[in-house]
Amino acid sequence: MIHIHGQVIDEETRCVHYDGPTDIIAIKFACCGRYYPCIHCHEESESHRRRTWATNERDERAIYCGACKSEHTIQTYMNHTHCPRCSSLWNENCKYHHTIILRRTIRESHSKRQPCCRSSKNGKAVRDKRI
Ligand SMILES: [Zn+2]
Ligand SMILES: [Zn+2]
Ligand SMILES: [Zn+2]
Repeated sequence: MIHIHGQVIDEETRCVHYDGPTDIIAIKFACCGRYYPCIHCHEESESHRRRTWATNERDERAIYCGACKSEHTIQTYMNHTHCPRCSSLWNENCKYHHTIILRRTIRESHSKRQPCCRSSKNGKAVRDKRI
């Protein structure tokens, strides 16, 4: 059985930070291999530096659907707005935060707008171009 770390508040992996109806996935972080419901849960519990999944690691099973308790690859997560197994809707807004957990190719960065990342002051969008 998969253990979800962090401040989880229910069986579908909602946490104290995100508890909307579609917040039902947990992410396995590349740095520690632990599942957390969200980035804040990870940062609160871990002191190490976060590592993002590389573009060639997309067949890693790093997404957990809290509704049907199944694991999915990063690629599946990127291609679906809902769980292919139980059809539960996944939080669509998460796609704006993909770069927190995984790397995008240059083409993906340009084809998908990421308002929250683009406006960040630390130059994240610029750094991503190096990939
Ligand atoms: Zn970690
Ligand atoms: Zn959280
Ligand atoms: Zn599911």
